[in-house]
Amino acid sequence: MIASNLISKKRDGKSLSKSELSSFFNEYLNGDITDAQMSAMLMAIYFKGMSEDETFILVEIMLNSGSKIDFSHTKRYVADKHSTGGVGDKVSIILAPTLACLGIKVPMIAGRGLGYTGGTIDKLESIPGFNTSPNLDQFKRWVNKCGYAIISQTNEICPADKKIYSLRSKTATIPSIPLICGSIMSKKIAEGISGLVLDIKVGNGAFMKTKEQGAQLGKWLKNIGKAFSVSTDVIYTSMNQPLGRFSGLACEVQEAIDCMKGDGPDDLIKITLELGAHILVQSKIYSDKNSASNAFMEAIDSGKAFEKFQQSVNIQGGSIDKLKTVPKYQNILKARRDGLITKIDTESAGWCLVQMGCVAQKLGDELDYSAGIEFYKKLGDIVNSDEPVARIFGSNKRKIDNAEKFLKPVFTISSEYKPSPLIL
Ligand code: URA
Repeated sequence: MIASNLISKKRDGKSLSKSELSSFFNEYLNGDITDAQMSAMLMAIYFKGMSEDETFILVEIMLNSGSKIDFSHTKRYVADKHSTGGVGDKVSIILAPTLACLGIKVPMIAGRGLGYTGGTIDKLESIPGFNTSPNLDQFKRWVNKCGYAIISQTNEICPADKKIYSLRSKTATIPSIPLICGSIMSKKIAEGISGLVLDIKVGNGAFMKTKEQGAQLGKWLKNIGKAFSVSTDVIYTSMNQPLGRFSGLACEVQEAIDCMKGDGPDDLIKITLELGAHILVQSKIYSDKNSASNAFMEAIDSGKAFEKFQQSVNIQGGSIDKLKTVPKYQNILKARRDGLITKIDTESAGWCLVQMGCVAQKLGDELDYSAGIEFYKKLGDIVNSDEPVARIFGSNKRKIDNAEKFLKPVFTISSEYKPSPLIL
């Protein structure tokens, strides 16, 4: 195999065969193909796409790069949730313990920040001691003991996604339907789950900017799930503004905790409940969405979901009492005129968070776990001139001051706002 020959084939819009894809991706994992060559291949795929057949092959190659977990010994329904990425999306942190309280086993493999979107793993690592890279046996033990665990891709499970994911984040090759399918489905199938619910984010802060792109991604993800015997439900939700009030690292864990203590923002609760109810109905533990939703909310309101979260944090070596929430600096962003918030440029808000140290931009970058943005105002809210619309905080003054310049144009204040649904 000649790497540059395969890159040029894809660059020219041709299909790659199973053996070509397999050689290219496996040689990258072995170190025989360089990051530069893989970056060129990813960019060629980004521009020229892949057929559905090539995409299935990609999922298979990525899945087989590591081990697949076997949960066949358990009588419990083993399921998971994944989102296609957004700003302020901390749903997994709430959803997994709540489902575990209701008898579902959730072996969740999540990711770090990707492009301008935050990563569940980076957020959870703001809890000192929290281990996101156990070996496979340890991961399985955690899931069997607590009902759920959240880890990152490792060298044992989904090593291909571990390596390619971080390269895509650095090379602007994320919003590609085949690459997203390969990344998400290889992780999820490797977990050994029977059921999956996918939250496909659509809007100005999502990788899928239009409903049509979202629908195509949803269709392919569902087909892949079916081919690998994973019951896959797909839900489309709006990412035209950050989810919840906070976006960042520790502040998002804190907001998830508040939510589990019964004090979460409406949009975050609504989406978490929708996804949770789908899994519960899929599992056949509940026969309809209404009873599933009631049980889900009861697990939260009774405090059981929060207890389960604490148990899992302890099992994974962390302590929430030491959550790194306290920033050294903060700046308040004020409205420049009276009116309504009619648009929030969510992708730009995400890039501000990247600048503040909430997503690594290269290997070895240190994250600022205390950094984040609090959105005082959301779409449709009334503001008066000079009223605070957001608070931007972190422990690196230069970064916070710099990011503030980029946050200013994120809010559009005007006179007419037409609300659109959160769940599409
Ligand atoms: N989440 C993933 O795990 N991978 C992607 O490519 C996008 C979102």
